[in-house]
Amino acid sequence: MRVFKFGGASVQDAEGIARVHRLVCKYGEGPLWMVVSAMGKTTNQLETLVQAVHRDQWPQAMEILGQLHEAHQARILPLPVNTTDSKRLMNVLEDWMAKLKADLEGMRAKQVPYNCLYDQIVVYGELISTALVSAYFEIQGFVHTWVDAGDLLVTDATWRDARIQWEETVSKVKAFDALHRGAAPPNSGTCVLTQGFMGQDAVSGLRTTLGREGSDFTASVLAYALDAQEVCVWKDVAGVMDADPRLFPMARILPSLTYREAVEMTYYGASVIHPRTIQPLQNKGIPLRVRSFLNPDEGGTVIGEMQDQGRFSPCVIVKKNQCLLELVSKDFSFVGEEGLAMIYKALYDQGLKANLARHTAVSFSLCVDNDPYKRLPVQDILLTNFGIQVTEGLSLWTLMHQSDKMRSGLLAGKQILFEQHLGNVDQYVVVD
Ligand code: ASP
Ligand code: MG
Repeated sequence: MRVFKFGGASVQDAEGIARVHRLVCKYGEGPLWMVVSAMGKTTNQLETLVQAVHRDQWPQAMEILGQLHEAHQARILPLPVNTTDSKRLMNVLEDWMAKLKADLEGMRAKQVPYNCLYDQIVVYGELISTALVSAYFEIQGFVHTWVDAGDLLVTDATWRDARIQWEETVSKVKAFDALHRGAAPPNSGTCVLTQGFMGQDAVSGLRTTLGREGSDFTASVLAYALDAQEVCVWKDVAGVMDADPRLFPMARILPSLTYREAVEMTYYGASVIHPRTIQPLQNKGIPLRVRSFLNPDEGGTVIGEMQDQGRFSPCVIVKKNQCLLELVSKDFSFVGEEGLAMIYKALYDQGLKANLARHTAVSFSLCVDNDPYKRLPVQDILLTNFGIQVTEGLSLWTLMHQSDKMRSGLLAGKQILFEQHLGNVDQYVVVD
């Protein structure tokens, strides 16, 4: 049993969709689960749609809806299929666009709060993408089953950062897999196709999302539940690199990483895989391969329980769009355990992570993603007890296992607001 994950870049156009089909035929023998993300930059487009609906800018929302429809049409039109099948693909798209529109209308009338609205709408990116890939697979005669991930991944109701309810999820995934494989003819390689990034709140039955780029995590949740032998994340890069090649042209591929190295890198913001991906895999000793869909025969990167050679790879991680919050207790009382508990509870409840934090007697500084829909509710809660100063337009630089010389070279000319050093990890909040 293996789990393949295809990200948005792998299905951004007709060529990509056809390539996914070829890759699955060539490399996906045996029982396989496939997780596919929204096509190209669809999730970003859907985010602007949610904002328009939330502000009740209906004409703008309808315009974005039209653009989404056209963008998907442009992806499926050039697919190598006959006219009848092309019409069939268009119909699949139209059906989903109609469902999305009906949902938007329903939620507009109900004035659903932003973060919940977000989850109900943004999941359409993955639903449409997998529905189209599934229809294309069918046309090509590739046997598989499409399933709504909402029926498998049970979560709580932390909108936009939902937490998996493991027991229910594992039993649902196992049950579905058994049913599906039981129905398949013997020795027919079986494939289940589902969406990444989304789940369903057990209590309300509403849809939830696992945080941006969460499809990697979906793949790892499924692998955990299915005791898979491997997860393979297909990307447009040849593997995990020691730095972002767009910022550092000298960046190199790391052929292997331990779970520990990978979890630290992604936690600090290496965007190659979602930070929550590693834990379930580590718990079951399932290796993760990051592989290029453009050059599938290159080795890529393997993340697993490698012999720890005590030699970590130096790497640089730059997390953009950060914001520094500096809290000072209003009555000059110590921040202490009670203050920290209050601050972290507010962060946890709103699903906002402290990417870097430090406290003194009466102050607490933390660097967070600059997402106003999560940050402002946190600030509102904390304003009762703290004065808050906000600095935007920052990046968080994390340098791991770097020598003094490399560090000073990388940071030359940067304005550093805040820094922290822990073992081999050096972090800097830098003005952009
Ligand atoms: N489509 C979602 C996003 O772009 C989830 C993912 O791609 O992993 O964030
Ligand atoms: Mg993506």
